[in-house]
Amino acid sequence: MRIFNAVIIIVLTSSIVAADAYTIYGTLKYPNNTAVQYEEILIECEPHAYDCAKFSGESTMSDFGGGYRLELAYDEGDDGIELILSVKGETFKHKISIHNASQSEGDYYSNLNLTLNQDPPVSPLSAGFVCGTLFFILVFANVAVKTGRRLMTPEGRQRFQGRSPMPVTTCKICNGTVRRHLLVRHLIVDHGIPPEDAGALAGLQFSDERPDD
Ligand SMILES: [Zn+2]
Repeated sequence: MRIFNAVIIIVLTSSIVAADAYTIYGTLKYPNNTAVQYEEILIECEPHAYDCAKFSGESTMSDFGGGYRLELAYDEGDDGIELILSVKGETFKHKISIHNASQSEGDYYSNLNLTLNQDPPVSPLSAGFVCGTLFFILVFANVAVKTGRRLMTPEGRQRFQGRSPMPVTTCKICNGTVRRHLLVRHLIVDHGIPPEDAGALAGLQFSDERPDD
């Protein structure tokens, strides 16, 4: 008799401790069968649906594969309550029904796969990829055009090959073309100008000329 009482007590307490749960689970998809990833599934209620109100605001989030689980505390008497599941502005109705749910250790599991009407958004990843690719194409085209233009002149070709072109200048005395860095030497050697004066002359001339870019 004592053992019988103990068993009854254990059964009673365990049923009190393990509050029943009603879990709605399934996958959330777009019409093209791709998963709706990381979207909130929120329970809403019809206006004046007072029995639904205790579930209002319960929410969960779909996972990478579109799977979701929404666990609700279930009491006797909740059977038949109509819930509205709201996802991305679309709504789905679900009536709590333990008869249509599978049962495991006192908890109920109701499978509900949801398919949205809206098409999947363009993934930010692929949008970013397209954008990045376009950007690189534009940059590349710009560089190609600039390089092409540069290569049209001998000076540009020298620059392109990593050689800075050697700027030339005109000697004011003999009107000959002289490389800039050799002008002082040219003035001294070819025109017999004293080094101080040659330096000053060259300096004056360079300050008049526009610097090369
Ligand atoms: Zn000269």
